[in-house]
Amino acid sequence: MNQKILVLGAGTAGCAASIFLRQLGFEVTLVERQSQASSTGTFKIGESLSPDASKLLQQLNVWESFCQASHLKCYGNVSYWHSKTPTHHDFLQHPLGHGWHLDRLAFDQMLLNKATDLGAQLLTETRITSIRFENEQWKVELNNPQGSHSTKADFMIDATGRNSWLARQMGIDRLYEAEQLALVAFLNIAEDFEDSRTLVETEGAGWWYAAPIPGNRMVTTYFYPPERIKLPTQPTAEEWQKLLEQSPQTTKRIAQAQGELIADCQTVAAHSSILEVLYGSGWVAIGDAALTYDPISAHGITMAMATARDAANAILSYFKGNTEALNAYESVLWAAFQRYAEDRQGFVVKD
Ligand SMILES: Cc1cc2nc3c(=O)[nH]c(=O)nc-3n(C[C@H](O)[C@H](O)[C@H](O)COP(=O)(O)OP(=O)(O)OC[C@H]3O[C@@H](n4cnc5c(N)ncnc54)[C@H](O)[C@@H]3O)c2cc1C
Repeated sequence: MNQKILVLGAGTAGCAASIFLRQLGFEVTLVERQSQASSTGTFKIGESLSPDASKLLQQLNVWESFCQASHLKCYGNVSYWHSKTPTHHDFLQHPLGHGWHLDRLAFDQMLLNKATDLGAQLLTETRITSIRFENEQWKVELNNPQGSHSTKADFMIDATGRNSWLARQMGIDRLYEAEQLALVAFLNIAEDFEDSRTLVETEGAGWWYAAPIPGNRMVTTYFYPPERIKLPTQPTAEEWQKLLEQSPQTTKRIAQAQGELIADCQTVAAHSSILEVLYGSGWVAIGDAALTYDPISAHGITMAMATARDAANAILSYFKGNTEALNAYESVLWAAFQRYAEDRQGFVVKD
């Protein structure tokens, strides 16, 4: 295929799309607004990945590199969901084995390396200053430290995360479920702390998530509805500690790990949402730009890779003359989101 595809955003979704598109023979330019797609200055959570992701990693042809990297194996979850009695979910019963706690910077860097090895062109620190779609082609003005440039593309992919930059330029609305914020804190933990399970515990109208991540660290997150719980966006260590103390299991886990807060807490958006329209003339949205699930589903990274693969295949079909391919992509995502929203009733936090 000699069409040129401009992929916006070099997170998991954008890097995965670049790999799949190169595998299909498209010319690919990956545009990232940050200085380094995986720079240490970038705030990355340290997500957990379910065993199901292994199939996608094999399709991306990065399975061996992934297995050699320092991601932590995760053997299951323990949940105190409105109960003092734990529920265990053991990955050893999963046909594909264990999951992982990701070193997300290393994960995105691995995907980026693969994309550029396959011939994708990477432009970092690059902002798009204007776009026009005329005669089936995008005319794009870019700006980066090297100066201003014009380029053309046959198709664009919005992989800009929750920001959904390109879709917003098209005037597309995002539909939200109830607002949810996540207060994220990183801790140093003891080197010999071995419990790699994810811990989940409800507290009031919110819930805690705690999991070890590579580098003898732990990520803790308090998810809460801001209309019911008022918290400062950057609480002090004392305020964070006070909040934590209301959750005995998470407090215990942190004490067992000898956890010490590393840096300031950060508040990020964590609600479920979907673009009202997922594709249009010459563009399609993938990853968080297309839809976001509640992090309790631990689905975001897998979804980013799966939508990247499905969109790449839909683009191929589209250029081969199948005008329904992108519509089918959209219908599948909408149906999945509707099922998810229905299932989610079980997750709604009780009073
Ligand atoms: C608190 C929290 C916990 C989570 N936990 C989990 C978990 O345990 N497991 C899981 O699977 N998922 C989890 N998720 C979801 C997961 O983090 C996301 O689904 C995933 O990061 C989506 O990847 P992405 O590539 O679509 O977007 P992003 O990772 O947001 O990447 C978007 C990229 O686009 C770039 N960009 C933005 N705007 C522009 C622009 N205009 N031009 C060029 N580049 C641009 C950004 O700099 C960034 O590099 C969690 C999310 C939250 C908020």
